[in-house]
Amino acid sequence: AHFFQSGWTGVNERSFVAVKPDGVQRRLVGEIVRRFEKRGFKLVGLKLVQASEELLREHYWDLRNKPFFSSLIRYMSSGPVVVMVWQGLDVVKTARKMLGETNPADSLPGTVRGDFCVEVGRNVIHGSDSVASAQKEISLWFRQNELQLWESSSRNWIY
Ligand code: UDP
Ligand code: MG
Repeated sequence: AHFFQSGWTGVNERSFVAVKPDGVQRRLVGEIVRRFEKRGFKLVGLKLVQASEELLREHYWDLRNKPFFSSLIRYMSSGPVVVMVWQGLDVVKTARKMLGETNPADSLPGTVRGDFCVEVGRNVIHGSDSVASAQKEISLWFRQNELQLWESSSRNWIY
């Protein structure tokens, strides 16, 4: 499975993006999906899920020793999240730009965090920080048969 996924490069690069519980509560799902669609990325997976603490601890494994770790797990399990996989050229780096900085106070207007939130502990969205993280996160949150392979009719107008 890992060998297969590592073939996703170029226009087939994928990122894992999640609207966090505050983003869902604040009705930001449509706005966020709209931004990725309009940018030209292709949606290959999407679902609304209540994440278990076990899954979230795995997702944020790298941060396990941070002082905010337990409050982060509580925040992320406080309600449903909308998890998505977006595909396209340089989608990992571009999605991070579209999200803004980790701290909303450092995020420029025009970014999701720069437009819709003010506090780091309620920053409404997640996006993978590297292609390797994206592969790990996609396989953690999605089964292979939940990801759709489809040809976008606008492909030749975007590339
Ligand atoms: N976070 C926090 N306090 C901090 C740093 C991070 O509550 O001082 C939370 C915040 O929700 C952030 C998440 O932990 O989005 C993951 O942190 P990371 O450094 O990976 O930031 P991201 O990749 O989400 O920008
Ligand atoms: Mg991160």
